Amino acid sequence: MSSNKKENDKDKGHHTPVSIPKAEWDSSMLELAQSQFLKAAALMDLDENIRDRLLFPQRTMIVSFPCRLDEYSDVETVFGYRVQHVLTMGPTKGGIRYHEDVNLGEVSALAMWMTWKCSLMHLPFGGAKGGVRINPQKMSRPELQRLTRRYAMEINNMIGPDKDIPAPDMGTNAQVMAWIMDTYSQQVGYAVPEVVTGKPVVLGGSHGREEATGRGLVYLIKEAADHLNIDLNKSTAVIQGYGNVGRHATHFLDELGASIIGISDVSCALYNSKGLNLHEVNDWLEKNSVLQGFPNADEISNQELLELECDVLAPCALQNQITADNAPYIKCKILAEGANGPTSLEADGILADKGIFVLPDILGNAGGVTVSYFEWVQNTQEFSWTLEKVNNHLHKILVHAFQRTLVRSQRDKIDMRTAALIEGISRVAEAKLLRGVFP
Ligand code: NAD
Repeated sequence: MSSNKKENDKDKGHHTPVSIPKAEWDSSMLELAQSQFLKAAALMDLDENIRDRLLFPQRTMIVSFPCRLDEYSDVETVFGYRVQHVLTMGPTKGGIRYHEDVNLGEVSALAMWMTWKCSLMHLPFGGAKGGVRINPQKMSRPELQRLTRRYAMEINNMIGPDKDIPAPDMGTNAQVMAWIMDTYSQQVGYAVPEVVTGKPVVLGGSHGREEATGRGLVYLIKEAADHLNIDLNKSTAVIQGYGNVGRHATHFLDELGASIIGISDVSCALYNSKGLNLHEVNDWLEKNSVLQGFPNADEISNQELLELECDVLAPCALQNQITADNAPYIKCKILAEGANGPTSLEADGILADKGIFVLPDILGNAGGVTVSYFEWVQNTQEFSWTLEKVNNHLHKILVHAFQRTLVRSQRDKIDMRTAALIEGISRVAEAKLLRGVFP
């Protein structure tokens, strides 16, 4: 490869040379997921044998495969993952993430959280997750399609409508799910829409799936606000991340009358004390694709955004955003976690001391997997639900989970995250004991 070519590839964000994971399990996210789990396990007096079984995933797969770039002579080696944490509860379920930092530990942490989330929602799934270590923003659409199809082929034996059902996560969307569905269907020789969820509606996707995570988060914010006597109509909200989860959450909060004083994406954060005009923001994004440069707001750093005084702060971007360093300066009343793993264990303690009400990720962002479950049910029954039915069922399931978590948190005097984890873990532990040990 010429040095010019290498420079170009760097600009495009391609890994040149291939990025070799030094320690696949070495991930702060896995450490966080395991520490949260161990804290809950100790408090609930979980059987030690069950505890040790749940600390690591049951099945993991690492694949490396070639991805042909648009320049026909270039073939890049890419790493991909699929992890199934618990197979006890039914098929496994979890999104696929495209991000340049993905490794086995990160995917395993996300799979573990999926187990607790599905169990907390009483869905008949164990947790799974997948990922590919690339930067999707730097790839063309044909490159993304080739990469997705080859990744789907590599994990083809691991997934299936009765085995493991992928969905979108960070960096993937309905189009990526359509390519995976098509690739899987080509292998078996007939259309299998139920192998993925979060597909386009015309391919069997569910009404309401695309916005379900953001919608669910706002259903829960409403419950938390009612519990704390906060009138959302007079409230202020700050949302970190303006992707699938963040953008829809922002929209639904705006609909409830909250003033959106801060938002951010990978390019920058925006602040307007009088509230941002979302029509203007969306028009700007259509033309410019990133928030940077938007005229009717002040540009601030992502750190400043998190520390704004507001009623609702919703981290909806990345993990590890609220840590011991910035937790003392967080000034919201409700921390609504749309992202997975945005808050460290040390920060949890600080937020609790400050009296901040936390909607933990496994509750806060569970709207996505819940409507994914509805999509799978509709596909397996070959029947389609109306948006109204989807939203009614979603609301019922989320509010029920919120109430159970709140009651446990108040009764046992534990934080909402630990209460949600114990709700989730206890059903998995019970199922494991009932199924017994094979052989
Ligand atoms: P997305 O790719 O659609 O959006 C991510 C957003 O975060 C983008 O706006 C991006 O610009 C922004 N971002 C990236 N890096 C940033 C940084 N350093 N600072 C600030 N903003 C940054 O992803 P998504 O699907 O919305 O997922 C976001 C989070 O929600 C992830 O943690 C994901 O695991 C979680 N989640 C997603 C779903 C879902 O249905 N999509 C479901 C449950 C949980």
